[in-house]
Amino acid sequence: MTINHLSLRQAVVDGANMLVRMGAISMSHHGNFSVRVPNTDTILLTATSSFDSLKPENLALLDLDGRLLEGEINPTSAEIVHMHAVVYKQRPETGAVVHTHSTFATSFALAGRSIACSYEALVRADMTDGVPLAHYGPRGSAASVDNIAVALKGTRNTKAVLLENHGVLAFGADPAAAARANLIVEEAAQMAVFAEMLGGAKSLPVDMLKATVERRDEFARAGIKRT
Ligand SMILES: [Zn+2]
Repeated sequence: MTINHLSLRQAVVDGANMLVRMGAISMSHHGNFSVRVPNTDTILLTATSSFDSLKPENLALLDLDGRLLEGEINPTSAEIVHMHAVVYKQRPETGAVVHTHSTFATSFALAGRSIACSYEALVRADMTDGVPLAHYGPRGSAASVDNIAVALKGTRNTKAVLLENHGVLAFGADPAAAARANLIVEEAAQMAVFAEMLGGAKSLPVDMLKATVERRDEFARAGIKRT
């Protein structure tokens, strides 16, 4: 059997494996991951609800209205199609979306707290507005999807949303970028929890956010230095 879009599927598997390898995942390894088929309004979505033993053939093709076009999808994944679709609709430049219950980020979601931009890695990962909180609605429901849209509309400079009482949704230009966004949010959440014991994390001042982004871009433009 020929598998269509094999390299996109493999990129999702690689992104999911990276999160498991780095420990940016809950104990159950629960998660779902999607990638946009370039220049279309269709996505490939993991059809199973764990990142364990994920294979390229375990992704189904759907459109952004949630219609299944190719493959099969289990009921747990069918529930969350619109949770992914809303990100592609709100942020048309998005190429991939990942959802996990990574422990520290989800702890913020359970506490009903957004994540402020205190950790420099968030700035460098284009999350100068921190990570907003989307208010609770049952998993994948219209209410939860509307709340994700509201959080994204209200927070321009971010690559992730916390789902209240549930988990985290991260996105990027491709599966590697989406996985990296989830990883950095998880690191930021972990450090913010530890910083609480030391008096609390301090937010970066606005002028420093700008200076940090400018410095990153300046070095990126200069390219690789060689002798
Ligand atoms: Zn979930």
